[in-house]
Amino acid sequence: MSSGTLPKVAVIGSGISGAVCASILAASGVSVTIVETGRGAGGRMSQRRETLEDGRELYFDHGAPYFSVTDNEVLGVVSSWEARGLVAEWPVMFGSFDWSVRKFVDLDKEGRTKKYVGVPGMNSICKALCSESGVEAKYGTTVGKMNWLHDRNLWSLIGLDGQDLGQFDGLVASDKNVVSSRFTGATGRPPPLDLASSPELAILSQDIPVNSCFALMLAFSEPLSSIPVKGFSFKNSQILSWAYCDSSKPGRSCASPNCECWVLHSTAEYAHGVISKTGLKKLSSDALVEVAKDLLHEFQNTGINVPHPIFMKAHRWGSAFPAIAIGGNEKCLWDQNKRLAICGDFCASPNVQGAVLSGIRAASKILGKSSNL
Ligand SMILES: Cc1cc2nc3c(=O)[nH]c(=O)nc-3n(C[C@H](O)[C@H](O)[C@H](O)COP(=O)(O)OP(=O)(O)OC[C@H]3O[C@@H](n4cnc5c(N)ncnc54)[C@H](O)[C@@H]3O)c2cc1C
Repeated sequence: MSSGTLPKVAVIGSGISGAVCASILAASGVSVTIVETGRGAGGRMSQRRETLEDGRELYFDHGAPYFSVTDNEVLGVVSSWEARGLVAEWPVMFGSFDWSVRKFVDLDKEGRTKKYVGVPGMNSICKALCSESGVEAKYGTTVGKMNWLHDRNLWSLIGLDGQDLGQFDGLVASDKNVVSSRFTGATGRPPPLDLASSPELAILSQDIPVNSCFALMLAFSEPLSSIPVKGFSFKNSQILSWAYCDSSKPGRSCASPNCECWVLHSTAEYAHGVISKTGLKKLSSDALVEVAKDLLHEFQNTGINVPHPIFMKAHRWGSAFPAIAIGGNEKCLWDQNKRLAICGDFCASPNVQGAVLSGIRAASKILGKSSNL
């Protein structure tokens, strides 16, 4: 790299770990390029826009519904987002619904934990971080190959269609599918990173098990007033794990003043049962309709007064939650010789806090080496 030029780092993935990492790097004077498969930023902190037949729009946080923070390092970052209006507290009561007795129990058990949401959608945080000064984002672009050019001491990124995505002094990969063997199964292609040349990252050659989840997006023309809380877990249900009233979050609106949007999450066991029938292939839309019916049926069978929804659609999260964390105390993986950092919730803990912490740590690794960039 010639002197006077900013070091260039590519971040693969614009989920919260990649977005946090990119924003820290850019704030330190690194020129960051984010490459993201999806149409926008967010990853599993996404928001989905749906349109009713009459043209009215509905928005659902169909991935992470909210997050909480216990780690002080992460709290510092989240407080700065709160000050910028990117997140707000969702000051509602949560509880549980016990299927075996068909009653709400443990109301407000989690009430003391501050619940944060992105405003106006869960993806707002990633969107803002990925458009900060010094960050360029290429959406709708999948990295197909990450090549380390020994002779030039640079990374070269190639898109899935063979397009040249540029050359970089350092690289951050924020999705386990970029490196894990599951990627091979899902796409029929080898993973973008060849691990054989990075013995430091040998831990990645193991499969990283994940738990899957289906999310059911529901809209009702009237509030579900018999439900005493805005979020609750299900005890003793084989099919449902959580329900959230999405439209009760700050900064949200529904299609009409009385309308309520809810998101239901399936149990991992139910999702596993459905997905194991289709393997890693995408579920057909007919199969997703059947999933939607199963989840709604379970919701209605609670005995809670659940009217007929004006909208319902299921979404499959094949890799919703990593079942292990492989980053150890570092909370990320790092190949110093090649300036390659791997981050994401699978390196720390299977939640937003873990992903943020991992993104912070990956940025520190890259910056720790910045004098050599
Ligand atoms: C249904 C559901 C409920 C959840 N509930 C909660 C909760 O209540 N509280 C909580 O804290 N957390 C929750 N989580 C977990 C939380 O969403 C995740 O831990 C966190 O968002 C992970 O962020 P990440 O950056 O590690 O990964 P991701 O968000 O998955 O980001 C990785 C990104 O990389 C992109 N990518 C992958 N491969 C490539 C490639 N080859 N080229 C380019 N881009 C690529 C992907 O498209 C994706 O955008 C939930 C998740 C789900 C799905």
